[in-house]
Amino acid sequence: MIGIMAAMHEELNRIVAMLSDVTEEKVARKLVYIGKLNNKKVSVVFSGWGKVAAATTSTMLIERYAITRLVFTGVAGGIQPHLNIGDIVIGTSFVQHDMDCAGVLGIKRFEIPLLSLTEISSSEILQIKAEQAVNDYLSTDVVSDVDKEELNNLNITNPVIYSGLIASGDQFISSEDKLKELQQALPDLLAVEMEGAAVAQVAYEYDLPFIVIRIISDKANDDSLIDFSRFIEEIASHFTSGIIKRLI
Ligand code: SAH
Repeated sequence: MIGIMAAMHEELNRIVAMLSDVTEEKVARKLVYIGKLNNKKVSVVFSGWGKVAAATTSTMLIERYAITRLVFTGVAGGIQPHLNIGDIVIGTSFVQHDMDCAGVLGIKRFEIPLLSLTEISSSEILQIKAEQAVNDYLSTDVVSDVDKEELNNLNITNPVIYSGLIASGDQFISSEDKLKELQQALPDLLAVEMEGAAVAQVAYEYDLPFIVIRIISDKANDDSLIDFSRFIEEIASHFTSGIIKRLI
């Protein structure tokens, strides 16, 4: 069984629509869809937002559905200036940007206490497969799948795929000051969101191969996207379902 977690309802709906033999189960206030995608058994669930929601949901999929892989999709804020709305980031490593026990028993900023780790890596095999799925989607489907006018409105002319460090914390980052602080503290940081590093920690503890794929929805600065839900519905959810179809 492959676990698929989506952080946006619109993405979840489009993924569930691709499944066959679907059944539903309500577990811990979450609706889990169990079915088949490309003849593989999958369980698909809305993760909720934030690290706790992502951690409880990943743990539930592992313990209850014995998943052997975990794929997480959602949107994220771009941190490096060259990232644009509509670009796709594959998370190769993850840090909790709000983890700070610095000064306590020699622990460094960002270090996860007792695990003695600051960054946790995703599965290398899944990184390669995700890159193939994204490249295949971008070179074939994106033109026919997404309304050209919607893409033009947001200046999404040629989405680019990046792989690298993602930071997660229980905070929606939308200020120039916080953005600069993160850029300075984590110079390699590509994108920021609220769940990936929590999924990474659970996956690490359970020794579970996982991957996180994020569509850039904003630039984590003072001008947030004018119409966030329209972007998710008309663009991001198409991207993720097209990518997931290929990855699974
Ligand atoms: N503003 C949106 C809600 C986005 S909520 C709305 O009104 O509908 C947060 C989700 O977006 C989380 O899944 C988080 O991981 C992701 N996200 C996107 N951009 C982010 C940013 N700049 N900072 C933190 N999380 C972000």
